[in-house]
Amino acid sequence: MKHLWWMILALVTAVAAQDTAPALYPFVAIRAGTLIDGKSDRPRHNQVIIIRGSQIDSIADAGNAKIPAGAKIIDLSRSTVLPGLIDSHTHIFLQGEDPAQGGYDANILYPSQALRAARATVAVRRALEQGFTGLRDLETEGAGYGDVGIKQAIEKGYIPGPRLWVSTRAISTTGGYMLEGYAPELDMPKAAQIVDGPVEARKAAREQLDHGADWIKVYMTHRSWIGKNGELVSQPTLTVEELKAIVDETHGWGKKVACHAYGGIGLRRALDGGCDSIEHGLDLDDAAIAQMLKQGTWYCPTISPYYKDWAPADTPDGQRDRKRAAVHEVSFPKALGAGVKIVFGTDMGGIPWSEPIAQEFGHMVSLGMPPMDAIKSATSRPAEMLDMEGKIGVVVPGAYADVIAVDGDPLHDIKILENVQFVMKDGKVFKSDGKLVQ
Ligand SMILES: [Zn+2]
Repeated sequence: MKHLWWMILALVTAVAAQDTAPALYPFVAIRAGTLIDGKSDRPRHNQVIIIRGSQIDSIADAGNAKIPAGAKIIDLSRSTVLPGLIDSHTHIFLQGEDPAQGGYDANILYPSQALRAARATVAVRRALEQGFTGLRDLETEGAGYGDVGIKQAIEKGYIPGPRLWVSTRAISTTGGYMLEGYAPELDMPKAAQIVDGPVEARKAAREQLDHGADWIKVYMTHRSWIGKNGELVSQPTLTVEELKAIVDETHGWGKKVACHAYGGIGLRRALDGGCDSIEHGLDLDDAAIAQMLKQGTWYCPTISPYYKDWAPADTPDGQRDRKRAAVHEVSFPKALGAGVKIVFGTDMGGIPWSEPIAQEFGHMVSLGMPPMDAIKSATSRPAEMLDMEGKIGVVVPGAYADVIAVDGDPLHDIKILENVQFVMKDGKVFKSDGKLVQ
């Protein structure tokens, strides 16, 4: 009998040891050659970051660091360590809009929801392996509430992926979203929830919040073209009254509203209606910038996509495409100089997920943003926008252990961020020496 008890005890101990395998290393110590902590204006050298479970416990100069006995040591003493990056504008349910492959419409019309979900799991994995440990995903483009499911799959550990803030279906008006251009007799699907009037607008926000939206995404402009004086014109969509109903409802739930707006009437309505973030903001006039400063509105410029897939130069669409990039090149430095709060966003999904997400840094820096500010726009700034200050986007005690590393100095060459060598999320190593480990 005694013998049996010992056997059971040994078995239980063995199973427990297996279940709690990470507890072999209750502490992890990262030796960081250079640390950019996401908040400070200057990097620090030769730091030791102590991680306990999923959180950062302490940070000290290597000379003074007390590394707990038995800690797993990760040597990044020849690398630059940064907080996990955050992309504040993605579409995990899109896969690029190559006109040669049918463009946007083909993305919506042909793949089943199961295929789209499977591809979204690849998109989130690609984001994580590139060092993006957080994404604000701004609508599923016809994939309904699929983003809530992908978020749950990541949180439950079924698939690897970043932290997600999802916005589900998005909202626009009749005439305000794709699919369009088909015979009027056809009842084509719309890739956003279509509303007309403040009652429908509020109801759509309620539905989306009820089904798990962390943010509400609204289209305040839709089509764009060149006006008679050569200016970029954007078709406005929701009225101020419709938007106010959405913002009022969403703020009541303690959540925020992201507004796609290029410029003109729609952008003005977005600001008058109380949007929390302006997406794209291609054409910001002085009045818009002043109002954004006054209201504390975030600006997520997404510069990269406007340099892609230009129609031929001698067509109206081609001229429109070039004008979009041209006015953006004026608006971004103006907003930056005025002190508008800027977050890094790419519109990935509109851009194929095979491309580097960090390409946006190069555009921001070439338009005048100092590299350290560009890094903050993808770390501590979005943390503030997402009400996660001190928890993500920073390497400080008490934050989640979302840590990445690159070989070289991104302050000297921002493109280095396109080649992340080490990725840790929640204290778990996902990539080391450029290779995936799980
Ligand atoms: Zn977008």
